This record gives sequence, structure tokens and C-alpha cells, in this order.
Amino acid sequence: MTRVYNFSAGPAALPEEVLAQLRDEMLDWRGHGMSVMEMSHRGKAFVGIAQQAEADLRELLGVPASYKVLFLQGGATAQFAAIPLNLTTPASIVDVVNTGAWSKKAIGEAKKYCKVNVVADAAASNYAHVPPQSEWQRSADAAYLHYTPNETIGGVEFPFVPESDVPLVADFSSTILSRPLDVSRFGVVYAGAQKNIGPAGLVVVIVREDLLGRARADVPTVFDWKAMAADGSMLNTPATYSWYVAGLVFQWIKRQGGLEGMARHNEAKARRLYGAIDGSGFYRNPVAVECRSWMNVPFTLPDAALDKPFAEGAKKAGLVALEGHRSVGGMRASIYNAMPMAGVEALVDYMKEFQRTHG
Ligand SMILES: *Cc1c(COP(=O)(O)O)cnc(C)c1O
Repeated sequence: MTRVYNFSAGPAALPEEVLAQLRDEMLDWRGHGMSVMEMSHRGKAFVGIAQQAEADLRELLGVPASYKVLFLQGGATAQFAAIPLNLTTPASIVDVVNTGAWSKKAIGEAKKYCKVNVVADAAASNYAHVPPQSEWQRSADAAYLHYTPNETIGGVEFPFVPESDVPLVADFSSTILSRPLDVSRFGVVYAGAQKNIGPAGLVVVIVREDLLGRARADVPTVFDWKAMAADGSMLNTPATYSWYVAGLVFQWIKRQGGLEGMARHNEAKARRLYGAIDGSGFYRNPVAVECRSWMNVPFTLPDAALDKPFAEGAKKAGLVALEGHRSVGGMRASIYNAMPMAGVEALVDYMKEFQRTHG
């Protein structure tokens, strides 16, 4: 068996300890004679698993008691529609910050349901910075303010939490659990699972209770946060196994020292990789220094013709999924929580060797 260092943006690497535990208990979970995958979601065993996962996530993030935590399906993309369906009427206006590809998708979906005011657009820097709040053109009566704290494709991370009098709604898909977060600043925090939480398909939604009950009458029931909260996210069959894996990841993060521990680990990895890029005179990262993502590190080579040999050589060295997003090209190393420092060191070594032979 050979494990590679997987730099995929998502689905992404999971902690090896978690995968080994899943393997060991696949056929018989704690004497139940079956896999968690095969259990009734209404049975005592799974209800216990679900409650433990929620409790651990609440502990990690310090989620206040006045927030509901939902484990839903359809990924973050389903929430792009669920958010306006739960928080607006067709006459409402919502404020949205456009910092790149995922902001744009959220905007496109919201436009189907309500009016959208783009308060700021980072187009001027080709989406390589976060426009300062002083430049934002806010509307007077927005139902909420939406932003993308970490743009997974552009590698742009907000260095601040926006000030907002209206509920702040944030797509934390690619940065949740990478460092501490003050949930009380937000109306809604949501995150697809396949970057820092677990298997794809699952989406975690943390919503302030006073925002429940604003949904449209015609919201599909599976998107109705209030109905889902009332049923413990089990109004229909939840993604039981993904939920279980997420719970094991939460426990793994606790063993790493919680979110403070993750932050130290992630900051060190990011510093190592950006340092290698900036010091090379060969590789380049286009993002404004203060907005560089800890999780997704895009970089270019001096000539796009080197992309293919770089990626192919990397693969031979056991470093996979480094090709940039198809929309932007270049390279991108996603270094989520589960990527060990040894993986970053191996990448930096490979980058130096490639530069030596191709520079
Ligand atoms: C990956 C990602 C999504 C999409 O998640 P799906 O599970 O494909 O719906 C949305 N937003 C951000 C910031 C992401 O990184």
C-alpha cells in the first residue's frame, strides 16, 4: 500500500488515523455486527453517533446555545438556493461580496429568488484581493450580507470578519475548522464537508435560531432549516455515514489541540509554502499578501508549458492533484487540516528540484 500526498481542492485528503479506524470497524461497529452505513438513522446507536458529532463540533467552534447545527445534503451548492429560500421574499434585496468563483456561483443562484446587490467586486485585481469594507456599496435594507471567507479556486482568504447590522451569511466550505471562529458574529455559517470535514455531499449549516421561520411557504421541505432543525436533521434519511466520518474528524481535530492547534499547524504549513514560492524567483503566487489563503495555494511557473512536466513529475514523486482549477490553469496546492507538514516539505523539496532542472 502506498499513500500519496493528495493536494486536491476537494474531495480532499482525510486524516489517516480516521481512515484506519473506518477500515478497522467497517464490518462490525462496536459489536453491532454491522457497519455504521447499514444502521437505521432512528436507532439508538446512530442517534448517539449523530449527537456526539454535533456536540464535538459545537465544542470545537464554541457554537452558542442560540444556534442550531444542521447536517444536511446537497453540498454548499444546495445552500446557495436554500439561503435565499429561507431568508428572503421575491421582493427582498440581499448584499453580496464578489471575491471570485464561489461568490459568483452563490450570486447566480440567489438571483433566481430575490434581488442581489453586489457590494464590491474584486475584478480590478483579477480576484487577487479582498476589497476593503470602506469601499463596499451596501443597500439600506438588505435581508442579509453574504460573503465567501475563503475562495477555494483563487486562494483568497478574508483577513477580517465583515461588520454587519444585517445577518452575516458565510460560505466557510474551504476554511471551516482551520482556525478559531467567533460564530456569534454570524447569522449563518455553512460549509460543504469535502474539504475540512469529511466526505462530499454533506453540508453543515449553523444558523442563529431567530433566523428560523422566515422561509417561504413553497421552500422544498429538505431545504427548510426550521423543519430540519425540528427533526434533528432527520426529516428524511440523512447522509448517515458521512455524518459519522465527520464526527471522527471532529474528534481527530480535538486530539490535535482543537482549533488553536489546527491554526498553528496550518499557519506553519502556509508560511513554509508561500516562503518557498516567494523566495524562488521562479514560482509566483498572485494574491495580495494579507489575503493569502492558508488552505489553497495557487502558483504559476514562468512558462505555462512547464505545467504539464511539473505535474507529471510531481505525481511520480507521490504528490498528486496539483493542477490548478480548469478555469485558471497553473498549479494549486490545497493544504487542508489533514495535510501533514511532511507533505508540504515534500512538495517544497520537489519544487526546488524541478526549478534546478528546469530553471
Ligand atoms: C467546494 C466549494 C463549494 C461547493 O461545494 P459542493 O459540495 O460542490 O456543493 C462551495 N463553496 C466553496 C467555497 C467551496 O470551496
